[in-house]
Amino acid sequence: MRYGLVGAAGRMGGEIRKAFAAHELAFTLDVDGETLDGAPQVLVDFSLPAAFSATVSAARRFACPLVIGTTGLSAEQLAELRTLGEQVAVVQSFNFATGVTLLKMMLREFAPLFADWDVEISETHHNKKKDAPSGTAILLREATGRDCPTHSLRLGGIPGDHTVIYANEGEVLTLTHRALSRSVFALGALKAAEFAVSAAPGFYTFEEVLSCGLKR
Ligand code: NAD
Repeated sequence: MRYGLVGAAGRMGGEIRKAFAAHELAFTLDVDGETLDGAPQVLVDFSLPAAFSATVSAARRFACPLVIGTTGLSAEQLAELRTLGEQVAVVQSFNFATGVTLLKMMLREFAPLFADWDVEISETHHNKKKDAPSGTAILLREATGRDCPTHSLRLGGIPGDHTVIYANEGEVLTLTHRALSRSVFALGALKAAEFAVSAAPGFYTFEEVLSCGLKR
């Protein structure tokens, strides 16, 4: 698989290169410009929202699928990804860790049973993270079906911790996901890229990528 990488010089860019070591890096894009060594068959973007229009242009230029993990995207940018999905396969997720996706599915499934409990979300990330709350906290909040308070901590080198706390007068239920290393996100992006290269045009979540793997 020939892949392209937006945010190639970043921390996740480095993780993607390691996870995609069996594949060929054909295109890179970062603030210092682009490199091209054959058209990519899939484009992977872990950068910043400022790169978004260049990413969408590149996906259109190469007419290739896009896997995008960049967080802090606006509602307009997410809508633009849906439009791009009419032409090519687009997999978008604010979190490419399998465990977070399973947590999201559990929260959604059991949300009605927690209707009369309080719920709050807390997330902790490394001190270089630009957006807050994290994209993952936003997707977990959506899965609870409630506009619950969300708290952000920025400390040291933590790759990403998310905790959903439910409580009523007599009980506390705490659900925590911890990423032990950034490599889990890159391995998830690899799964998504392998899915996207042969998928029909459309807008896909990482949940759909994982569910598709389970059906095979
Ligand atoms: P980083 O700051 O180390 O890397 C970002 C890269 O994007 C840098 O190399 C930067 O130069 C580049 N960039 C910035 N503006 C650009 C522009 N206009 N054009 C081209 N390149 C540009 O950050 P990181 O830790 O690698 O994280 C990158 C993104 O991935 C963030 O949005 C982060 O929140 C997100 N992330 C997502 C997941 C997930 O699973 N979805 C997991 C981890 C991180």
